[in-house]
Amino acid sequence: MPYRGRLAPTPTGRLHLGHARTFWLAAARARAAGPEARLVMRMEELDAARCKPEFAAAALEDLRWLGLRWDEGPDIGGPHAPYEQSKRREVYVDTWRRLRDGGFIYPCARSRADVQRATQAPHAEEEDAEPLYPTEWRPPIGTGKDVAMPGAVAANWRFRVPDGEMIKFADAMQGPQVFVAGKDFGDFLVWRRDDVPAYELAVTADDNAMAITEVVRGADLLKSTARQILIYQALGWTPPAWCHAPLLLDETGKRLAKRNDALSLAKLREQGANPKKFIEGWKTEFQS
Ligand code: GLU
Repeated sequence: MPYRGRLAPTPTGRLHLGHARTFWLAAARARAAGPEARLVMRMEELDAARCKPEFAAAALEDLRWLGLRWDEGPDIGGPHAPYEQSKRREVYVDTWRRLRDGGFIYPCARSRADVQRATQAPHAEEEDAEPLYPTEWRPPIGTGKDVAMPGAVAANWRFRVPDGEMIKFADAMQGPQVFVAGKDFGDFLVWRRDDVPAYELAVTADDNAMAITEVVRGADLLKSTARQILIYQALGWTPPAWCHAPLLLDETGKRLAKRNDALSLAKLREQGANPKKFIEGWKTEFQS
């Protein structure tokens, strides 16, 4: 099967050097996989309140400035188009339906704030410090099976994780990984009460539908990968290979965020930076 990779920006702001480095790595791995390899550009703009079309356009422009090219995507088309998540609702509803039919998910009227309060989780600095959903709040198995559409109930939908199950995967960059369901993470969101598919569901549905063979993304999403593997397993889908790039840290040791304006590609471009210089650095970092 020829390699299929993807670039999946979320246009909530301008891209910074950390994003650029991960996207470059994704493109480099696709290129190294040979002439048959394909790289897909997928715009993850489901969250209409936070995503803006101008950021989406700017992300494409910034990545082109960096010298990246892709074979399929919002501005190119291709056999799997469209590649904008906001236009792919039926793919997500279909995935939701399969999870519902299999009894893997349930509607839950509690908000994230309720969960936060119940667990008194500190607002930790740790990546993905989402508190564990209290198992005593789980409704009986089968709850929600008769609901026709995810938005038909005023509730979040959550995936019931198999408590104690070890989820193992090999990562091309981080080595062997193990997470324990119910311990490292609890029942996670698959559909939001405002009727928007949650990240874990949308990304899994898309990577499967787009026949992605390797997911390259930041190491902040390692735990999400474990959650996504549970969705692949539930639906009998074959997961892709995984490659999580180490995160770029700023001078205080914190991970770069869109707030680090100084390192935004827009700023660097404005200052006349030469993208080749960054790429040389990444080549040395990843290929030595
Ligand atoms: N769209 C996500 C982000 O920008 C990345 C999702 C992924 O690569 O799975 O954080």
